Amino acid sequence: MKHVSEFRDPNLAKALLAEIARLAEQIGATRAQPLHIMEICGGHTHAIFRFGLDKLVHEGIEFIHGPGCPVCVLPMARVDECIKIAESEGVIFTTFGDAMRVPGTRGSLMQAKARGADIRMVYSPLDALEIARRNPEREVVFFGLGFETTTPSTAFAIQAAAREGLSNFSVFCNHITVPEPVRALLGDPDMQLDGFIGPGHVSMVIGTHPYDFIAQEFGKPIVVAGFEPIDLLQSVAMVLRQIAEGRAEVENQYARVVPEHGNPASLAAIADVYERRPSFEWRGLGEIDASGLRIRPGYAAFDAEEKFGVGYATGSRNVPEIEGCACGAVMTGKMKPTACPQYGHGCTPETPLGALMVSSEGACAAYWQYGGARAAAE
Ligand code: SF4
Repeated sequence: MKHVSEFRDPNLAKALLAEIARLAEQIGATRAQPLHIMEICGGHTHAIFRFGLDKLVHEGIEFIHGPGCPVCVLPMARVDECIKIAESEGVIFTTFGDAMRVPGTRGSLMQAKARGADIRMVYSPLDALEIARRNPEREVVFFGLGFETTTPSTAFAIQAAAREGLSNFSVFCNHITVPEPVRALLGDPDMQLDGFIGPGHVSMVIGTHPYDFIAQEFGKPIVVAGFEPIDLLQSVAMVLRQIAEGRAEVENQYARVVPEHGNPASLAAIADVYERRPSFEWRGLGEIDASGLRIRPGYAAFDAEEKFGVGYATGSRNVPEIEGCACGAVMTGKMKPTACPQYGHGCTPETPLGALMVSSEGACAAYWQYGGARAAAE
């Protein structure tokens, strides 16, 4: 298949693996003292495990799975607030399917739906907008969730609702940003990171410059990468080459998709609709300054926090995590999923304790799906 098969070419993969091994040995990376390369994006985590790249690369390379799964970092309090909105009289609550099974203190949206709430899965906020048009007597709320990749589409839906004067549509905004948690991780003295694989889809929107601080302030290389095996192997080789040559720069392996300065139409919509929250709570990471977006006062009529009196509008936050759940340590790369005491015991995809086990971008789900279930059984 064009644009896929060439990025899965076995001969190219072998050549890149040999180059990675050569560079790893030149740097002196070993199994005992590996180089820690963090892939920020959960989509990359899944690609690495799907194609077995963690086992193919030189033993001196260790992939550290970062916090780039928006469903995984959603705190319990926000799930609870979703359920509160969804169970309000006359509400149709719409969400991406990924968020349906994320546990809150009162269960998940899936369980709220089973109790009778009108919760519907959609593929786009524009689907939610259409539901609002067809149900003028009902309040339709879209669960706006995700990094910069999905932030523009929610903004476009809000702009469309404003143009049409749709008074029964609102967004529960939980959009978050990538650079701030990376800065928080780099400032954590317990983290030992040698380089980064940058998120491809997010960068398509924001470009590569928001990562300049990683290279300039922290002296770490970062390579924005695509999602096929050749993309990832080439990106690892590029990170290693920077380390071997004593450089720390932002490089773009995914230039066929990621423009240096991002997507102007998306960036304009983001700037029009949202403003930064002073801080936002991340599951496992705590409060991170300026890492979340809220809807600007000019669009307050479409802000579910204002309409339903929930969330940061009421100051309610910081619900403690479930006891025994190691999601925070996994999300910050301090623990592998299989090292979590709950993995495969209390926590499975059927009975998830943490969001990382149910999200399509969660690290625990990746381990389970691509061999971790067998590891747990063994
Ligand atoms: S196995 Fe379950 S409880 Fe443990 S880190 Fe993963 S999602 Fe969290």
